[in-house]
Amino acid sequence: MATQQVDVCLLSVGPDLPWLSGYEAMPLERLTMLVVPVDGDATLVVPSLEVARVVPRDDLFAIRPWGETDDPIAIVSGLVGAAQTAAIGERTWARFLVELQHARPDLSFTTTSSVIGPLRAVKDAAEVLALRAAAASVDQIAGQLQAGEIPLIGRTEAEVSADLGRRILADGHHRVNFAIVAAGENAASPHHEPTSRVIRPNEVVLCDFGGTMADENGIGYCSDITRCVVTGEPTTRMTEVYEILERAESAGRHAGGAGVAAEAVDAATRSIIDAAGYGEWFMHRTGHGIGVEEHEDPYIVIGNSAPLVVGNAYSVEPGIYLPNEFGFRLEDIMVVTESGAESITNAERSLVSVEA
Ligand code: ZN
Ligand code: ZN
Repeated sequence: MATQQVDVCLLSVGPDLPWLSGYEAMPLERLTMLVVPVDGDATLVVPSLEVARVVPRDDLFAIRPWGETDDPIAIVSGLVGAAQTAAIGERTWARFLVELQHARPDLSFTTTSSVIGPLRAVKDAAEVLALRAAAASVDQIAGQLQAGEIPLIGRTEAEVSADLGRRILADGHHRVNFAIVAAGENAASPHHEPTSRVIRPNEVVLCDFGGTMADENGIGYCSDITRCVVTGEPTTRMTEVYEILERAESAGRHAGGAGVAAEAVDAATRSIIDAAGYGEWFMHRTGHGIGVEEHEDPYIVIGNSAPLVVGNAYSVEPGIYLPNEFGFRLEDIMVVTESGAESITNAERSLVSVEA
């Protein structure tokens, strides 16, 4: 905060608050806000009726409950004191920021991303363990998919999505974040919403799923994996396109490491797909950081020349999407170590045929 000339951080809904305090604000109209001055003690301003949800951490923050007739903006404003620059969480409701601006016209605002983003991007050993636990869970579910243990043919995309969701919860996550199931031509849409379309024999089924799993302090870390299967025999064209994708993803996994620019990992996957003539059909970045959020720093994208550092965790997920035909994406989560980048998801990466 001192380096960024920020006098006070104001954290409400969104991932910064639980990451720092272990407490996740309820996304409701009553204001919850952790006030963190650059020097001095932190205070959690929280509605009285939600105090029971807070696990007290006297070593980290004081608790300042407010009742139904209190003005929480005035309470926060008082705690902000003589600060001149406040960094506010990006997800804070606009209403609260506007009210704070009215209450404190002398205060200038920036976002916490410049202060907290770089800290969250570098995982400590406990965070890497939490990411590994979440990754191992979805890795196992991907294995079940590839083993034909999750019925596909005759079910709708939505039914398979719900099935994946149940498995994500049964296996230790406390929240399902997404379970994309895209069959046949729908797999050519990277962020397809599962529908009532019934899965048929001999087509591609793309599954991209993840959730949030709480660590021992109750802070949730995310998982994310994509695997594709074919319900029967792949066509020659499917086999050819998948082989290119698999090579690209492998190059991306092996390109990472401390000191390597994030965009170099993107270039590693993209150059292979470009050279094979499919560059036009890989229309998204190679990956994203992952932690308490599914998508966070560092982004693996052209233009991000920042070097990766030990403790970064990110996805490598190139795709090739052929309109009206099919699409493929292959995604693993990487952690930067002293000796390179290690994949913490490791389910079979070849195109598996399932008879289910
Ligand atoms: Zn992802
Ligand atoms: Zn994904």
